[in-house]
Formats: sequence, C-alpha cells, structure tokens
Amino acid sequence: METSRIPGFYNMTVEERLNLLKKIHSFSEEDVKNIQTSAPLTTDTADKMIENVIGTYQLPLGLGLNFLINGKDYVIPMVIEEPSVVASASHIARIVREAGGFTTKATERVMIGQIQVVGCADFQQAKETVQQNKEVLLEAANNAYPSIVSRGGGAEDLDVRILNEESTSAYSQMLVIHLYINTCDAMGANIINTMVESLAPLVEELTKGKVYLRILSNYADRCLAKAKCVIPPDLLKTGDYSGEEVRDGVIHAYEFAASDPYRAVTHNKGIMNGIDPVVIATGNDWRAVEAGAHAYASRNGTYDSMTIWSKDEYGNLVGELELPMSIGTVGGATRVHPMAKFALHILGVNSAKELSQVIVSVGLAQNLGALKALATEGIQKGHMALHSRSVAIAAGATGEMIDIIAEQLVKEKQIRVGKAKELVEEYKK
Ligand code: NDP
Repeated sequence: METSRIPGFYNMTVEERLNLLKKIHSFSEEDVKNIQTSAPLTTDTADKMIENVIGTYQLPLGLGLNFLINGKDYVIPMVIEEPSVVASASHIARIVREAGGFTTKATERVMIGQIQVVGCADFQQAKETVQQNKEVLLEAANNAYPSIVSRGGGAEDLDVRILNEESTSAYSQMLVIHLYINTCDAMGANIINTMVESLAPLVEELTKGKVYLRILSNYADRCLAKAKCVIPPDLLKTGDYSGEEVRDGVIHAYEFAASDPYRAVTHNKGIMNGIDPVVIATGNDWRAVEAGAHAYASRNGTYDSMTIWSKDEYGNLVGELELPMSIGTVGGATRVHPMAKFALHILGVNSAKELSQVIVSVGLAQNLGALKALATEGIQKGHMALHSRSVAIAAGATGEMIDIIAEQLVKEKQIRVGKAKELVEEYKK
C-alpha cells in the first residue's frame, strides 16, 4: 500500500471505494463483487467450519485509514457492527501520522502449552525429574509436530510448578508443566495441543502421576506486541479546547481507569473496539485475544488500564499499549474464510508478528479516540450522529429515506427509534 491517506474516502459511495481498491490491489471484477456481497463464504464452506450450520451471518467490513506504523502505511480492514469505531480510529491515526506514526515492537511468538499432573507420590521429586529430562521432553514434543520445527519454530523451553503446595489448600496438589512453543505465523492452538497431548505418556512415566489437562494457555504473556505514539499537543487541539487541555484530559481519563476497575473495564472495552474488528476481519480467534488481553490487564493483581498515557519532558502526549497477541496469518479460519483472505491481502502484512503490531496500534488509536472525545465534548455528539442511521433503519427507513431521516433526527436532537418511526410515517405520506 503506497499510502493509507485517502482523502474523501468517507464521502465516496461503496462502489467508488471498491473501484479505488481495485486499482490499488489489482483486484479482478469477481474479487470486487465478492468483497461487496460477502458471497464467497458459502453455506457449504460454513458447514465444514462449524456444526449444525443453517446459514452465514454478515457484519459490515470497513477500512481504517491513515495508519502509519514503523514508517509503513496500512489500510486496515475492520469488521464491526458499532458505528463510529472505524471513523474514530481513522481520525486518530491521521493525528498520529502527522506526529510521525506509531512505533511498535513484538516479542518472539512463543505460546504456552500446559500439562496438569495429579497424584504424584512425591511432587518435589516429580518436579526435579521433569526438569532433569527437559531436553528429552522438548525433543519428544518436536517429534510430534516436526513441520513447525522445519519452519523455524517448535518447543523451545519448559518449566514446572507445583500448585497448591500448602497442605491447607482446598484443592489437590498438582504439577503443572509449561511448554514454550514458537508457533511462527500460526496462532498455534492445534500445534500446541498436539504437542502437549503427545507428551502425556512420557510425563506420567517420569512423574509417576496421572496427566489430566493438556491444552494451550490463552494467557500468552510471551507473545506480546506493543505500540507507542508521541503526539505534540498542537495536533490535539479540538474546538474550543487547546491541545494542552486535551492532552491533560486524556491523562486524567487514563488515571481514572488506572485507579478504578469500574472505569478500567469500559476503558479497555474501548480498546477492544479497535482490536476485535481487525482480529475478526483477518479470520482470527477473537475470544482467545479477548481472554489474553483482560488477563494481562490484571497481571499486577488488580484489573487495570491496558494503555498508559503520560506527558514527556517536551509536553507531548505519550501513549503505550502492550498486549498478548495470539493471532496468526495462517491456520484457523485465516485461509478458509474468503473475506479473511481479502482482509490479509488489503493489510499487506508479511507475518503474524507484523499483524500483531498493526492490531495493537489500532487498539491504541481507538483508546485515544474515546478518551479525547470523553475529555472534551463527550462521545454522544459524534456517536449519536453516526448511530442515527442505524436508528433510522431500525425504524423501517430504506434507500434514500435513511439519510434524510437520520439527518432530521440529529437536527431535532432526538435520536430515538420512536421519533424515527414518526418521521418514517410522515415521509411515506
Ligand atoms: P492450524 O492448525 O489450522 O494451522 C497451523 C498450521 O499452518 C501449522 O501447523 C502449519 O502446518 C501451517 N503453516 C503454514 N505456514 C506456516 C507458518 N509460516 N507458520 C506456522 N504454521 C504454518 O491453526 P492453529 O494451530 O494456529 O490453530 C488455530 C485455531 O485453533 C483457531 O481456529 C482457534 O480458534 C482454534 N483453537 C483455539 C483454542 C483456544 O484458544 N483455547 C483451543 C483449540 C482450538 P504445517 O507445517 O504442517 O504446514
């Protein structure tokens, strides 16, 4: 993608937007038709993906624009039903772009597989035996999935803990082995689960205990991605608010979330408003990402803000977001769902590591969009104006009536379905 700055995209018709994409990505007529209609996810394919299928379920696919991440432009596919999310992400990305863009980094893509062992006669001895046989266990795990090793990944390390060591604990003692597996460009659930299941007989032999659970952990705290932005206050000026006022408002909003779980949950939901749509658009498992993100937000013992906002020595607003990112550019539905294939193509990412960094950048942008609005005019003005179209549709408006009714609702400051129904009736007369 040469640039993600596409002025006026918002005002184009869907057809004009698709024609532009067609030029940029050399899409065929059929590709364009497929994107527009979501047609390629046939009921037949869906029937192979999950059970008891009766059809497919569509959601809007929009494009987050203006994203400049580590000097590279990204047009970001976002699948979401909530109005104003895509607009807000694009608005903030434009500000951050003027400030030099997002900078990001990511750890190696190391995921965790867990093996639970109960009933050991001597847990301490069992733990030591597992530690002494680390290389044997790693080799056995890799033999169970040699293809990931040949891709440069595989089981790299392990550790062992004894849980409920205190004899007063209400629960049984157990040994828990963590297998650390580099899953390369895959989210890795199937790779990990295959490996940990294959180790069960050997672990039972070594520990003289009984293996129960063998499954990945969605708390992927060794598979992290981090995004940062540094914004001069001038770029934050909004209406009657100076850039410094907006900056300080954002920092106060952050401090609220960092001090109070009731606020942190909503603050973090706003971050996931940006993250989930990209995870979904690319065919990834958003429940896995959600679970990991919220657990990571609690890593210090209380549920905390996922982002950190501060002021640097020059008075710039500095935002940071680090999260576990158990996503892939291969595997799962990424190459099965036809729209996910288009989404990955439009994004132009070359690896899961790169995708994870794009995703946290969108999360950071989304958070700033919400905090900037909350710390100034409030979110309802912008949100309800965009929401008015959904309200008009819910009230039965169709075609050109939708925008006319939506505009009237905004003008009368009554964005309610009841009012919209009255207007629809009047329009039809
Ligand atoms: P898959 O098993 O579908 O695909 C991964 C495979 O892709 C690899 O094993 C590898 O197979 C192949 N591959 C091709 N190129 C690469 C590459 N560059 N890097 C890595 N692998 C590559 O997917 P996952 O193992 O990622 O599993 C993800 C799915 O598991 C998701 O759908 C998720 O919903 C689901 N799941 C999630 C769970 C959870 O989160 N708790 C639990 C269980 C399932 P090869 O080398 O043989 O070609």
